[in-house]
Amino acid sequence: MEQRIRIAGLGISGIYLYQRLKNDGFNVTGFDIKKEKFYIPCGYATNENIMHKYMSQINIDFEKYILSRANKITFAGNKFDDRILDPSGLCTFDKNKLEEDARNSIELSKINRDDDGLIIDATGISRAYLGKSREDTQYYTLEYLTDSSEHKDFYFYFFERGRGYFWSFPMGNKYHVGAGSLSVDDLTAVRKYIPVRITSRNIRMSPQFGSIQNGNVIGIGESIGTVSPVTGEGIIPSLRSAEILYECIKRYGPEDAGNVYRHRIIKEFGYYYRLSRLVSNIQAGRTLNLSNIIAIKYVKKTVNDFGIRLEVLPFIRHFV
Ligand SMILES: Cc1cc2nc3c(=O)[nH]c(=O)nc-3n(C[C@H](O)[C@H](O)[C@H](O)COP(=O)(O)OP(=O)(O)OC[C@H]3O[C@@H](n4cnc5c(N)ncnc54)[C@H](O)[C@@H]3O)c2cc1C
Repeated sequence: MEQRIRIAGLGISGIYLYQRLKNDGFNVTGFDIKKEKFYIPCGYATNENIMHKYMSQINIDFEKYILSRANKITFAGNKFDDRILDPSGLCTFDKNKLEEDARNSIELSKINRDDDGLIIDATGISRAYLGKSREDTQYYTLEYLTDSSEHKDFYFYFFERGRGYFWSFPMGNKYHVGAGSLSVDDLTAVRKYIPVRITSRNIRMSPQFGSIQNGNVIGIGESIGTVSPVTGEGIIPSLRSAEILYECIKRYGPEDAGNVYRHRIIKEFGYYYRLSRLVSNIQAGRTLNLSNIIAIKYVKKTVNDFGIRLEVLPFIRHFV
């Protein structure tokens, strides 16, 4: 019988990979430690133009889950002067409901680290099966679901020296207000709001592509650092990594997929290293080098991918 593929972690990337493999007839099961009705810590912001495409691959109509679409986006703080930007797909969606619906049909089975066959680590920040990586950078986050915010549309306030940002995103008739930063002190920006719910977890802000595989375990999503080092966007990049692994398994089989997968991840997301070095040089107050200057074009790319139209100049003022 064909060996079983076990997916640990049924967040957005684990669910997606499960459905892609299952629909192709692979022997696949999933497992998650999350309690029912757990409220996922995340801004729930994404680019609907790209999400529609991924979700249609697993027979999900993304339209049903959209809560609010951006009209005007404000960038404030650190020399941005309340700059108004146009959206190119930025929206929020009901991530809890979408993941719950997509998880319903998944065959669940517990996973042990010494199980044979391919184990996929989609456990996000935990890297529960891959183990710790030496290249890790994590930021603190705090987010409230609230009934009100003074910012009716999408709002970002950037902390000095590229430490992170505060956000306020409309969520239908509610809001997500949150902050993610290298400094825990920046999280106080959220505390003036009245919470309906409070969530918090660290977010991985650096690529981990040197530690993608450990024996029969291969990582996807935030476990390997597919989170933009500039915007913290992790949903679509994590789906992209899951799609790449799916294609490699389909073509080379579960046992031989690892090598090609690693190369393809580096090809696709290698610029995250440049962005990560750019951000850490700014945080350390170092003079930017040529490689950092080149990386500024990737800042534009990563912000545009998130669904925000951005020209590069204001970002140069922000960063330099
Ligand atoms: C506060 C905050 C705000 C964010 N806002 C945004 C945003 O607006 N837009 C955006 O694109 N990205 C955002 N991100 C990043 C984004 O949420 C993640 O990068 C993305 O969801 C990663 O998907 P994933 O499937 O790799 O991991 P996750 O979605 O984190 O899923 C991991 C799963 O693994 C499970 N798990 C953990 N340990 C184990 C174990 N031992 N065994 C089994 N299962 C386990 C967890 O319960 C979880 O279900 C935000 C992150 C944070 C923390």
